[in-house]
Amino acid sequence: MKSTDYDVIIAGGGMSGLLTAAATASFSKQNARVVVIDRNPEDQPGKKTNNGWTCGDATSKGSLEYLAKHTGIRYGSPELEHPVKGVLVFSPDRKTKVLFEGEGFILNRKLLPRKQVEIAKKMGVDFIFGVSVEGVYAEDGWVKGVNCRNIKTGETFTKTARVVIDSAGSSTKLRQHLPISSKIEREIDKDDLESTGRYIFNFETGVDDTTWFDPDYAIIHLDQYLAPGGYKWTFPKGKNKVNIGLGVQKSAMDARNSKYGRKDNLQSLIDQYVSENKAIKNPVLAAGPEDEGNAKGNWQVPVRRHNDCMVANGYALVGDAAWMPRPIDAGGIGPSIYSSVILGRVVAHALEANDTSEAGLWQYNVDYMRLYGYQMASFEVLRAYLQTLSNDQINYGMKHFLSEDDIAHITKRQHPEFDRVRMLNPLMWFRILNEPSLASGLRYTAKKSQSLIEHNLKFPENPSGWEEWKKGLMRHMKEAYERFLIPREIPPLH
Ligand SMILES: Cc1cc2nc3c(=O)[nH]c(=O)nc-3n(C[C@H](O)[C@H](O)[C@H](O)COP(=O)(O)OP(=O)(O)OC[C@H]3O[C@@H](n4cnc5c(N)ncnc54)[C@H](O)[C@@H]3O)c2cc1C
Repeated sequence: MKSTDYDVIIAGGGMSGLLTAAATASFSKQNARVVVIDRNPEDQPGKKTNNGWTCGDATSKGSLEYLAKHTGIRYGSPELEHPVKGVLVFSPDRKTKVLFEGEGFILNRKLLPRKQVEIAKKMGVDFIFGVSVEGVYAEDGWVKGVNCRNIKTGETFTKTARVVIDSAGSSTKLRQHLPISSKIEREIDKDDLESTGRYIFNFETGVDDTTWFDPDYAIIHLDQYLAPGGYKWTFPKGKNKVNIGLGVQKSAMDARNSKYGRKDNLQSLIDQYVSENKAIKNPVLAAGPEDEGNAKGNWQVPVRRHNDCMVANGYALVGDAAWMPRPIDAGGIGPSIYSSVILGRVVAHALEANDTSEAGLWQYNVDYMRLYGYQMASFEVLRAYLQTLSNDQINYGMKHFLSEDDIAHITKRQHPEFDRVRMLNPLMWFRILNEPSLASGLRYTAKKSQSLIEHNLKFPENPSGWEEWKKGLMRHMKEAYERFLIPREIPPLH
């Protein structure tokens, strides 16, 4: 076998790339030669775009504990910037709030990658900064390396490896132009890419109203008017520091603008949200070295289920490049952590077994699905359903239909069952009759969710069962999109 420059090339050193690099190194018994190639300069690792490290910055303590348990990697101050006790979700009228228990942290996304690079280097990972990966290089149906361009000099070159990991984020060109035949879907529907943006502000305390700002809780405001097809968030980074922003679905925003005769765009909606928040007075962009160049930014997040297959011969996807953020809340840090640990372990084994084919890497699909991914298709359906609701319906539904059990399920990142909707007591029937389409939609998503979870837990152990499994999944998804009258192209099987 022709020797390669590296065993593993990781294209993109953001949250998922840096974690996968460290995980591969930590699981490898043969000291795998791992390199991360990132377009950023060395002093700005993990930067997503020219606007900075744009993120809501929130992640659960549970995901960080998983990372520590499996790799020994732990973070501390200053990258874990502010602890929170849970997430509070408010109805559009802010009269109903639902607490999702579960501690977490608001991270400093600018500082965290520096720590991650330091940790990975100690584990023996190499880095090439200031180089853009332009695409993968393939031969005979196998990915064999990457084509690169030095950003400063324009010099182009190729690096070869036994496995290339695409962790270049939501706009990756590698997956889009994958030059080999595989089971990986290359394109995402534009309605599955949420436009999001946020500020990081220091501010003076305004009105004392914890429905707007609470230093102990990450707040999510549902609102189809200012955040059509998405939600607004106010995440505390201290008593007088906040990460505040919102996400929209572009087509929902266009429909909303035409309905109300408005010409709003993402930025004007974010600015309206900030100005309506009376707890935040005289906000100024955070400017210390820990926030400089990162206080204002917009970027996109994929909010569909993860790519149904994430491996091909010599190639794997992880993080936003694999569409991993949860469809329901666009949280992608937790999924990046879980998937990176699993991928690192599978790649280390595949290298040792000298089988980096689709079949050799397949276990990554299976393990991620079993641990975390099995819920994502049902969250995709729940999201599609929620996007059909008005603010009044969300107010009503959150007040009358969401039970303690549903909340417990969502807290555990499981799909709610909306049990109350099934209860046969007269009061519930009165409520159901008041909002029959809301109730029947909830019932439908609960049932469909159950079927999708059962289907996903039967994800095939090896590529031979793929075709049948995928056809079954597509049948479910097609039916759900038709139920909610959402036009969707169901991609053909390869
Ligand atoms: C506004 C916003 C708010 C969010 N809020 C939250 C939240 O509160 N909680 C949460 O869990 N998730 C949130 N997310 C999602 C989360 O930020 C992502 O899921 C996470 O950053 C994904 O990490 P990644 O490494 O896959 O991709 P990225 O973080 O995008 O990293 C990709 C890396 O690859 C590099 N790169 C890209 N292309 C190339 C190339 N061609 N060559 C070389 N390098 C390249 C980039 O420079 C970057 O370093 C939010 C996202 C946005 C946009």
